[in-house]
Amino acid sequence: MTNKYIYFIANWKMFGNLRTLGSLNKVISFQKKFRRNKFKLIYCPPATLLSPLSDKLKSTSIEVGAQNCHESHNYGANTGQINSNMIKAVGAKYVILGHSENRKLGENDSLINLKIKSSLKSGLKIIFCIGETLSQKRKKMTKKILSRQINRGLKTIRNKKNILIAYEPVWAIGSGLIPKETEILEIVQFIKKHVKGSKVLYGGSVNTKNINILKSINSVDGFLIGGASQNSKNFIDIIKKTFN
Ligand code: PEP
Repeated sequence: MTNKYIYFIANWKMFGNLRTLGSLNKVISFQKKFRRNKFKLIYCPPATLLSPLSDKLKSTSIEVGAQNCHESHNYGANTGQINSNMIKAVGAKYVILGHSENRKLGENDSLINLKIKSSLKSGLKIIFCIGETLSQKRKKMTKKILSRQINRGLKTIRNKKNILIAYEPVWAIGSGLIPKETEILEIVQFIKKHVKGSKVLYGGSVNTKNINILKSINSVDGFLIGGASQNSKNFIDIIKKTFN
């Protein structure tokens, strides 16, 4: 894995305030020191921090992404929502869409498809999350579920070059559990076959310990990291270990 370009995407979920951003100074200096390694860092903080974080990272090569957006890129009467143009306007370049925590709240594949299309129109890159639940895994439905999420989520989208796919088994998120290496390999290859030329990330309980196993899975193009990314030391450790 160490010879190619690896993505490390921090999904801060509902975490962080202006003071927390100070802890990123460590990550900024680490990134400068380890520039020769081929990796891309992207921080996806809650919406309240998109603007200050984009400003803070302006002179670095670390990029910023949002965690979700509304399906319309126009202004509208949508209390509590933000759209992809608004995200782009504050300097963010990515948006996470299809995260299972939002699917659980009722987002379906066709809504996710609309969100992806409007975000691409705004010029954002997409981190498109897909994954099976534990009961679907037990019923050996993983590939069927992933195909459905991909087919519906990416419906009528021809140019997929600005879409990263994050394979995140729902049961692995926040649980401390990860699939077997062979399972991740098989699924990542399956996704790459399904979406030709795609970059595929793994997400779900990536931490400073299991990264030694995960980094050896060749076809994985990077990691979407939740809990462990909220602590800069752990996040840096994960990156260092990937290249060691
Ligand atoms: C996530 O929510 O995208 C995620 C990967 O979470 P965690 O790393 O905490 O399992």
